[in-house]
Amino acid sequence: MMKIAVSGCLLGDKVRFDGGHKKFDFIVDELSRFASFVSFCPEHIAFSSPRESIRMVEIDKQLHTISNKTGINLTKTLKEHSQKELDKIKNHKVDAIILKSKSPTCGLGSSKVYLQNGFANGKDDGVFAKMCKEEFQYFPIEEEGRLNDPWLRENFIMQVYAYRAFKDFKQDADMKALVKFHQEFKFLLSSKDDVLYRKLGRIVANEEKKSFEEVLSEYEINFKKTISLKSSIKKTRNVLEHMAGFVKKFLTREEKTLLHEQISDYANKIIPVITPILTLKLYATKYGVNYLLEQKFLEPYPKELALRSDIKSGK
Ligand code: SF4
Repeated sequence: MMKIAVSGCLLGDKVRFDGGHKKFDFIVDELSRFASFVSFCPEHIAFSSPRESIRMVEIDKQLHTISNKTGINLTKTLKEHSQKELDKIKNHKVDAIILKSKSPTCGLGSSKVYLQNGFANGKDDGVFAKMCKEEFQYFPIEEEGRLNDPWLRENFIMQVYAYRAFKDFKQDADMKALVKFHQEFKFLLSSKDDVLYRKLGRIVANEEKKSFEEVLSEYEINFKKTISLKSSIKKTRNVLEHMAGFVKKFLTREEKTLLHEQISDYANKIIPVITPILTLKLYATKYGVNYLLEQKFLEPYPKELALRSDIKSGK
């Protein structure tokens, strides 16, 4: 089961400044079937709830946390407690982090910044979000506002599961297992970035005869970088056409036409991507094309989440 760190207010914890919460249904009702959660709230442990609201203010080119009511500078206290919550998350070895958008503490690029004269001055990461980003490179981190977009939601969940798959694989990895791992992720990686996928292939081929530790560490950073990218309809279409190439020799002309029509209908946003994927899976099963059946791209996360059943999950 996944373990995901989540802003407490999104889980329904009454930790907001007004004593309320901002329960996010996708996390509480759907993701909870496949993940356990580590709740955090730097503001609650620093100032308890309810409390005065705060804002981020730029002073001498530095971001400070200021109380809206009293004008007191709370930066030091909030940073100390944010560090405690960050340590807690690290100890739990979580697989992903979901933050509350627009909060001066948790917002991921969506937190409003003000000048001392009260004027708005763009947006930035909240105090805690910034610390999370600095601590975890290429880590699955997202804010709930963006998860309302089916495309970003699908990409994020795919990243979370791929990231966790690498973590599990790394426990007991050797060169042979790495070749297999890379092969199984071929089409998923390709749907993110074909150039990086090929780079990963060269790392695995290891023509420079590096030690396995060196190869693994180089592979890890590039794998995490690749899965952190967003797929597109164009890249996914290329992957589907490539996969179709593995079954076409078994198909009648009518079956081939139907499969290409489905891929093209997906590219034209008429049907969701799950339709050509299931057709490919059907043919791969019928004709025993194990190379395709082993591909993580076919089912990168629990199918019950049904994220690829939405036409809007492609962009
Ligand atoms: S956004 Fe972050 S700091 Fe604010 S209430 Fe939610 S968890 Fe706490």
